[in-house]
Amino acid sequence: DLPAGAVTRFAPSPTGFLHLGHAHSALFAAALAEAAGGRFLLRLEDIDATRCRPEFAAAIAADLAWLGLCWDGPVRVQSAHLPDYRAALDRLAARGLLYPCFCTRAAIQREIAAAGHAPHGPDGPLYPGTCRRLTPAARAARLAAGEPYALRLDMAAALAAAPSDLSFHELGQGRLRCDPGQFGDAVLARKDTPASYHLCVTHDDALQGITLVTRGEDLKPATHLHRLLQALLGWPEPAYAHHPLLLGADGKRLAKRDGARPLRQAGPTPQAVRALAGW
Ligand code: GLU
Repeated sequence: DLPAGAVTRFAPSPTGFLHLGHAHSALFAAALAEAAGGRFLLRLEDIDATRCRPEFAAAIAADLAWLGLCWDGPVRVQSAHLPDYRAALDRLAARGLLYPCFCTRAAIQREIAAAGHAPHGPDGPLYPGTCRRLTPAARAARLAAGEPYALRLDMAAALAAAPSDLSFHELGQGRLRCDPGQFGDAVLARKDTPASYHLCVTHDDALQGITLVTRGEDLKPATHLHRLLQALLGWPEPAYAHHPLLLGADGKRLAKRDGARPLRQAGPTPQAVRALAGW
C-alpha cells in the first residue's frame, strides 16, 4: 500500500550529531521514496534556539551526503519561517481554540501534586487546565502586565470543532483510529520558542507536499494530535509509516549520547554504517 510517487522526508533536529538510529530513519525515508518513484526531502527542525546549533546542522548535511543520500530540492530550515507558524497559530486563535498559559513548570507540578493524581499523555502529565479557567479579566490583566505565556490548544473545543471519526492510514496496517484527546491541552507555542514541534511538523508536512510521513514508532502517538491539527487547519492528510527503533547493545533505544561524534566516524565506510543501521 505504498502510495505511488510518495514524497517522504527526514526531519532531524540539529541538537547533536546523527546516530545510527537517525541513519536508519533517513535511509528508510529515502528507500520508500525510491521504491514509490517519488521524492525524498530534508527538513531541519531547529525552532528551539536554546538547543539547536548551526554546526550540528552542517554535520547532519555532511553525514547524509557521506552516506550517499541525496535529497530533492532545497532544505527547509524551520527557524527561517517563524511567521508561517505564527499565521497558523493565529488561525486557531481566531476560532477560539487557543489560550495563553502563564504557568511555570514548577507551578504545574505543584498543582498536580496537590490534586493527588496526574493523568499521563504521550508528552508527560496532562496539564490541569488552570489558565483555561482564568476569567477574561484576569487573563487580560496578565497579558497587559507582560507576563510570558505559552499557547495551549483547548482540546475540548478543538475536538468539538473537528470530525469525531479522525483516523490515519499506517502502511501495512490500514486505518487506525485517532485519540487526540490523550494529549490534553497540548502546547502549540512555548514561552521561549514561538511554536512547538507538533504545530511546525504538521505545517511543514502540508507545505512541502509530504504524502508519506516516515519516522520512528516512538512518534506514532503524536500522529493522533497531528491529524487533529490537519483537520482544524484544512491541511491534507498524508499516509504514515512508523518504523521500529534501532536499539543499542544494551537493548535501549539510541539517544543523544550515541551521537557523540558525527556519523562519519561510526564506521570506516558508508556501506559499513548502512549495514550497522540495518540497511
Ligand atoms: N524532528 C523530530 C526528531 O528529530 C522528528 C520529526 C518527525 O519526523 O516527525 O525527533
